[in-house]
Amino acid sequence: MNVLVVSDIHGNLAALEAVLAAAPPHDAVWNLGDTVGYGPEPAACLTWTAASRITLAGNHDLAATGAASTEWFNPAAKAAAAWTRSRLTASECDQLNQYPSLQLTEHDVILAHGSPRDPVWEYVTDATGARAGMTEYGAWLTLVGHTHVPISTHLSGDGIPSIVRIPAGTEVDLSGPGRWLINPGSVGQPRDHDPRAAFGILDLGERRFTAHRVEYDVARTQRAMRQAGLPASLVDRLAFGR
Ligand code: ZN
Repeated sequence: MNVLVVSDIHGNLAALEAVLAAAPPHDAVWNLGDTVGYGPEPAACLTWTAASRITLAGNHDLAATGAASTEWFNPAAKAAAAWTRSRLTASECDQLNQYPSLQLTEHDVILAHGSPRDPVWEYVTDATGARAGMTEYGAWLTLVGHTHVPISTHLSGDGIPSIVRIPAGTEVDLSGPGRWLINPGSVGQPRDHDPRAAFGILDLGERRFTAHRVEYDVARTQRAMRQAGLPASLVDRLAFGR
């Protein structure tokens, strides 16, 4: 079974469309959350989630519905959350609020937006956080989003997990002993200095994860953001992937 793994679409429909067009054949889609927030087309991206097998709710999804506080958001993120909220209907907010932030799949894979121990808010960026994430539920594979940076980490025994960046084309062999944690990166707002939309293909039969990137029409998204009056800093960063 091949799974298309996406995360942090952030209302960027042009990027999502490019990912869906470029993705190799797959049997299911797992979406790790933050479908909305920052980008100009939250409702269209939310409509697409009906086609995904699993969709999680992230901090920006819950901020847009009012279910989570924006107290810790920077001013641009706060403004984008308020704008996103103004564009969603009550039933779209209900839809977002019904998504879980953590899910165990039938393949013993744990999916979380942030991390298994704090599914909505924790950023897994270092060995301590990665180790906690991988051992919280004992799953062989943990998939997280939230940081917008594609990484792979491996933990064997009681050791310290190694964290590596996984640029486009990287294949991660998950077939050996130990546990893994992978972040596929962000579809709609990459932050690893590569502006292309990120996604991954998880081959559960071969136990292999492949990191992919695809160019999309960044200018189209930026135009729509300007028309919507979204903060200029959020518009500009898309061109640089940071
Ligand atoms: Zn995000």
